[in-house]
Amino acid sequence: MSSDCYSVVETRQKDTVLCPRCGEKGKPVPLATVGAMAKTEVEAAKLSAAEYKLCRNRDCPVVYYAGEVQLEKSDLRVPVNFKERNYEGPVCYCFNHTVASIRAEIQTKGHSTAQGIITQEVKAGRCACEVKNPAGTCCLGDVTRAIQAAMAPL
Ligand SMILES: [Zn+2]
Repeated sequence: MSSDCYSVVETRQKDTVLCPRCGEKGKPVPLATVGAMAKTEVEAAKLSAAEYKLCRNRDCPVVYYAGEVQLEKSDLRVPVNFKERNYEGPVCYCFNHTVASIRAEIQTKGHSTAQGIITQEVKAGRCACEVKNPAGTCCLGDVTRAIQAAMAPL
């Protein structure tokens, strides 16, 4: 997967539709992301929409929707970082930086090297955000938030 993480965000962000469950504005998410994230037992009918939106509201169980079709976080193969409280799992799904690993590094070194490492890997074309990250885009925004949250209590 050599697609550029950033172009997906920039070119598709204008078009927004509200989440049928919580009413928040969703963001377009690539079809490839929905297909890659859905568990094998998710009904084919739920995966046949032409385009999906992503709901990032932490308190809403819906991750992807297309009209009345809704995929909840329990329909996905991976834990969804932006849907959980007290989350310890991955925020960078390509290179497996977790909230726990980021916090541990900050506790031992006083800072996080995750952003620098991820940026290098992205430049080298080794990321696969579209099929590994449930948001379907580059993880750096979520990683930055995780680092800030880990730094805050120190
Ligand atoms: Zn929602």
